[in-house]
Amino acid sequence: MTARTLDGQALAKAMQEEIRPEVAAFTAQHGRPPGLGIVLVGDNPASEVYVRNKLKAGAEIGFRADLERLPASATVSDTIALVERLNRSDLHDGILVQSPLPKAMGAGAEQRVFDVIAAEKDVDGLTPVNVGRLVQKRAILVACTPSGIIELLDREKIPIAGRHAVVIGRSDIVGKPMALLLLHRDATVTVCHSRTPDLADICRQADILVAAVGKPGLVTNDFIKPGAAVVDVGMNTVTDAAVATSLFGEGHPRLALFRLKGSVLVGDVHPEVADVAGALTPVPGGVGPLTITMLMRNTLRAAKARAGQPVG
Ligand code: NAD
Repeated sequence: MTARTLDGQALAKAMQEEIRPEVAAFTAQHGRPPGLGIVLVGDNPASEVYVRNKLKAGAEIGFRADLERLPASATVSDTIALVERLNRSDLHDGILVQSPLPKAMGAGAEQRVFDVIAAEKDVDGLTPVNVGRLVQKRAILVACTPSGIIELLDREKIPIAGRHAVVIGRSDIVGKPMALLLLHRDATVTVCHSRTPDLADICRQADILVAAVGKPGLVTNDFIKPGAAVVDVGMNTVTDAAVATSLFGEGHPRLALFRLKGSVLVGDVHPEVADVAGALTPVPGGVGPLTITMLMRNTLRAAKARAGQPVG
């Protein structure tokens, strides 16, 4: 079997075209576009790329998207002060604090900063209020990556209700909200993590398998029920030639690309899984572009909610 590709890039484009006229209508009605403020502290190279992509996508669809930078030497108090300014801003409907914050800020810094974001502007769905609403199935703003995955499964007509979904990973930003969204759609959900024994055996029971771990190629053929839908959230930059070779094998075009560039972006799912799965998201071009699009959708929802309009 060769798995059907679940093309997140194509869906992201289609959704952006759906959002665009709504953004234009909001702008016409309120005399300003929906606004997103992105807080970036320090100079983590991966964060720079993520933030650039978010700003670009926002501008292309008609949002106001502002980058608010702080130096790596900034304190938690500096960052909280910036978030509080964005909380008060009438021009910003959404606030995103790019993770990770510099290590020097100390353990617990992210939670302290996230906790300050006004719930109605929390487009990452990370504040306690929005997490609580998600648990109770009445959230307006839900973490972008898992909500993008539900959108992808729906539009690809992959049934969720009554199916066994296994989520590998239990982070606040992906694994836990993913499990809740699948549960709300009537899947039977198992959450696996770093201390789960017999991981492959459990995953092999999944009709829908979501891998959100951060370990290149962790999910191999023996994790997969034939025909399962596999969603690869992992985004791992591999720079080790032995790892790249073990993932792609000699003669693979992506190995040639690795040799040219010295690195390659891979997911948590080994490419061999395409032989067993029924459907599979590619990396790149799967979940990543959807995450950015859902951020835009959340910003639009936040803007509408703040303006007292129905969010749809
Ligand atoms: P995280 O580090 O916060 O969580 C990783 C989880 O994996 C943990 O819950 C841990 O228990 C589990 N884990 C670790 N080793 C394991 C193992 N050997 N077996 C089973 N479980 C194991 O990571 P995160 O923020 O959830 O991100 C996970 C991956 O998804 C990363 O590669 C990240 O870059 C990627 N990501 C991608 C997008 C996107 O838009 N495509 C968005 C967010 C995160």
